[in-house]
Amino acid sequence: NVLVNMSGLSKIFPNGTTAVKDVNLEIKEGEFICFVGPSGCGKSTIFKMITGLEDHTNGELEIFGHSPDEARKQNEVAFVFQDHTLLPWKNVRDNVALPLQLKGVSKKERYAEAERVLELVGLAHTTTMLPRELSGGMKMRVSIARALVTRPRLLLMDEPFGALDEITRQSLQEELLNIWQKDSSMTVLFITHNVFEAVYLSSKVAVMTPGPGKISSNIEVPYAYP
Ligand code: ADP
Ligand code: ADP
Repeated sequence: NVLVNMSGLSKIFPNGTTAVKDVNLEIKEGEFICFVGPSGCGKSTIFKMITGLEDHTNGELEIFGHSPDEARKQNEVAFVFQDHTLLPWKNVRDNVALPLQLKGVSKKERYAEAERVLELVGLAHTTTMLPRELSGGMKMRVSIARALVTRPRLLLMDEPFGALDEITRQSLQEELLNIWQKDSSMTVLFITHNVFEAVYLSSKVAVMTPGPGKISSNIEVPYAYP
């Protein structure tokens, strides 16, 4: 069951920079793939093309058999970035419910869904707190909850734990694995430059070369889940 198909995928920015060069990758439903590689090799650019924020220059990119624009319109792709963008004047539950509010879901229903995903990230007790009252790790959990609230089939995470201390990072890694294992149809794509994190989290690691990014190896990770 192929979810994302990249073939000969390349991106040349208008200023002439080749950011991604001839990437071929097939992503199947339920995989957890980490993208590792040095800074500037094109990891974020690949994510931006998947979310439709950037067009690709050459090659093919299909998500659920659709163009990235269509896939995004169907709300099947969600993302989490390192610098979580919670609205400071809204409480935790309203922040998490926001994607549903934008879709016109009723307050009762979106609050119920927000509470469901806050439970998943262990923050059921914070619904009426404001972002400024939360630690960095808690804010990241709220961002993950907000990404999960639309029940996406594909979750993109761009170095989400990069700014967290080691202990917090480890507990979030555990929680993310738990969430992913509970929902066998959710596919996660995760950028990190921490090789240990990649090997710990993923079912497959896509290693990118320096310079105009190309995937140099695509390694199945043989390991037993906790
Ligand atoms: P990574 O996420 O692996 O650090 P990026 O995808 O951010 O790498 O960047 C890949 C290359 O593309 C880098 O050389 C970067 O400078 C360049 N780049 C990224 N965005 C733009 C842009 N909007 N215009 C021109 N060049 C860009
Ligand atoms: P609701 O969830 O009821 O639709 P809003 O999102 O419109 O509420 O606003 C919630 C509260 O946040 C209101 O008091 C509003 O004035 C305030 N607010 C909305 N936008 C901003 C903003 N950009 N900066 C500061 N406060 C804002």
